[in-house]
Amino acid sequence: MPTILTHAAVPLLLGAAAGRRAVSPRLLAAGAIAAMLPDADVLAFKFGIAYADSLGHRGATHSIGMALALGAIAALAHRPLRTSAWRAFAFVGLAALSHPLLDALTDGGLGVALAWPFSSERFFLPWRPIAVSPIGARFFSARGLSVLASELRWVWLPCGLAALAVWLARRRADGARVP
Ligand SMILES: [Zn+2]
Repeated sequence: MPTILTHAAVPLLLGAAAGRRAVSPRLLAAGAIAAMLPDADVLAFKFGIAYADSLGHRGATHSIGMALALGAIAALAHRPLRTSAWRAFAFVGLAALSHPLLDALTDGGLGVALAWPFSSERFFLPWRPIAVSPIGARFFSARGLSVLASELRWVWLPCGLAALAVWLARRRADGARVP
């Protein structure tokens, strides 16, 4: 996994840039949680479930099905999230999906079980620039620093630039609306 905060940063940066009218603060928080949630599966190690098992790390919780399910739960909870059902589904579902996609860009561990429950095959993307974060990482080691540098370059920087573009486009649209 990239580190958990890096997973949360993707929906937080992009959602915040879209503005609170598009993404309510509660929806933003739900997206951040959905982006971190798949790694709750590291608890599987505590129960003696092997990494390669469907219920192991990067297994079922890292699937498209899980992202759809989290999106559907958010859609049901759209009122407390102060948004429409469709927006809740799209934002939370995409936030959840960003997690296995980022993991599939890392250079270590096993791939993600994107197609679970139809297949338990583990997938990686063909290009894997992100240094994998060791499970239970100690960040003040040399390894930790190189992981952080890699995440800054390959996740925070592109997401930050995309967020900036979204924010500028929104400011422009707002400017055009005001006479
Ligand atoms: Zn993960």
